[in-house]
Amino acid sequence: TSAFQTVPQAPADVIFSLTAGFKADTNPNKINVGVGAFRTDELKPYVLPVVKKADAILFNDASLDHEYLPIAGTPSYTKAAAKLILGEGSPAIRENRVSAIQTISGTGSIHTGAAFLSQFYKKSRKCYISKPTWANHRNVFALVGFEVEEYPYWNPETRGLNYDAMIQTMQNAPNGSIFILHACAHNPTGVDPTQEQWKGIAEVMRAKGHFPFFDCAYQGFASGDLDRDAWAVRYFVDLGFELFVAQSFAKNFGLYGERAGNLTIVAKSPADAGRVLSQLEKLQRSEISNPPAYGSRIVDIILNDPALYAEWKENLKYMSNRIISMRKQLYDRLIELGTPGTWNHITDQIGMFSFTGLKAPQVKVMKEKYHIYLTDNGRISMAGLSTKNIDYFARAVDDVVR
Ligand code: PLP
Repeated sequence: TSAFQTVPQAPADVIFSLTAGFKADTNPNKINVGVGAFRTDELKPYVLPVVKKADAILFNDASLDHEYLPIAGTPSYTKAAAKLILGEGSPAIRENRVSAIQTISGTGSIHTGAAFLSQFYKKSRKCYISKPTWANHRNVFALVGFEVEEYPYWNPETRGLNYDAMIQTMQNAPNGSIFILHACAHNPTGVDPTQEQWKGIAEVMRAKGHFPFFDCAYQGFASGDLDRDAWAVRYFVDLGFELFVAQSFAKNFGLYGERAGNLTIVAKSPADAGRVLSQLEKLQRSEISNPPAYGSRIVDIILNDPALYAEWKENLKYMSNRIISMRKQLYDRLIELGTPGTWNHITDQIGMFSFTGLKAPQVKVMKEKYHIYLTDNGRISMAGLSTKNIDYFARAVDDVVR
């Protein structure tokens, strides 16, 4: 008999199947608001102009070869990535208690951090993810053996943060639990805590000895301001927390398929930071040996060149402004149409995604009648909307909620 006879069929990935359905649809009005990648107003993938420049630099660099990178990645890259999230004047950097390791984009970063914690974090076996969250959080933490619990996040009534319930769950969680926090632009809801709320969250987490594991997939992409999007992480660092930050450069550099990421570790002492890094390197060696070079070279060039860095910020503004402008246009259309319900959450939310409040049966009509593809939870990617399809999209929403 076959060794694989009893292997059960795994379910297809929701997002990837949605895209397959969209591609197969021949209706000219079809819209894909499922996928989490930036699109221009022509709904085309966007290569950042600054990335094109870095590409040209690489292309013309005769000294470039295809040797292996070090196990922990390129030092100038990991150092710049840590500085990007923690900030120029970070006390943790000044005190040399930061280490960093290059990873396979954000997912690899979360995995590497989770795998390390499953081996060395002794305070708790429980890890809390927001309800709802990006589906991979559960996958990745469950894979390395954590008991994955949820903390309330979205309040369907207010279409905002369920702050009190979130705090209550943090209070009731066993001391020293791991909490996965979205640094900014929460996926899928687009709802972030206010700075006041972050202060409350940090207070409970400190009192309970919880461990913050930040997932930062949208720095600069959310608000257009790199510092504003890093505020929560820096606030926790200022309070003296030890923490992990998983950084993805998929969205903010448009380097999705190149898998450029970084795991930043803020420890209590330089000695701790060094020992943790040594174990992360050991782990990395057994899993991927060493990280992929190409995407990280682009990021390295841009982060370490003042002129290119300034240009990158402009590119980030273009992307975030287009998203913010689509939110406004969608809101305006729904108000014009007199669509039942309140819609200010569309413009209050931040980042690539909006939780529209549409329910699964309405999503079904969106797909079957209007050829508009979104996940059953009513999440839409604002990047799938454009000045050309926004009227059609708004009329479809108006129809399905009536
Ligand atoms: N975390 C969140 C919340 C995300 O939305 C994403 C991308 O969709 C990621 C992490 C990491 O993605 P990647 O592995 O492509 O960097």
